Amino acid sequence: MASKFFRCYNCNDPKGVPGRDFVADAAKPVCPNCTLDGTRGSQHANMIVALRTMHYDAKHGIVKCRGKNVPACGAKRLETTAMTGDPNAVNCLACQATEVFKAEKAEFNAGADEFEQPADFPIAVDPATAAYVKVEG
Ligand SMILES: [Zn+2]
Ligand SMILES: [Zn+2]
Repeated sequence: MASKFFRCYNCNDPKGVPGRDFVADAAKPVCPNCTLDGTRGSQHANMIVALRTMHYDAKHGIVKCRGKNVPACGAKRLETTAMTGDPNAVNCLACQATEVFKAEKAEFNAGADEFEQPADFPIAVDPATAAYVKVEG
């Protein structure tokens, strides 16, 4: 049976937000963290929900702002297949393992390091160094 993504609402994610994601056999989703059985018909099956697999739709290469319209992992494109051009929203492990995904994710997220984390105090850009500085007062 194919593996699928699930979310256990009996557990929190690493940031403490309710809902911990895991991959399991589609027919028998058991949370690897708390061992709750999410198999249909079991007592607390409603605590574990199935997630959509989100594939990566790589850039077309010629047509601007378009994807290739096939999952990067090579999975067959069905009417129900969910794909996105946002690499940060992809949860398909096979897509994430492709070279095109790794390259385009790096490109997509490039520049993020040029900006420092938003501060909870007034900031301005120092024209001399192009760095953010705290505004006093
Ligand atoms: Zn759990
Ligand atoms: Zn995929």
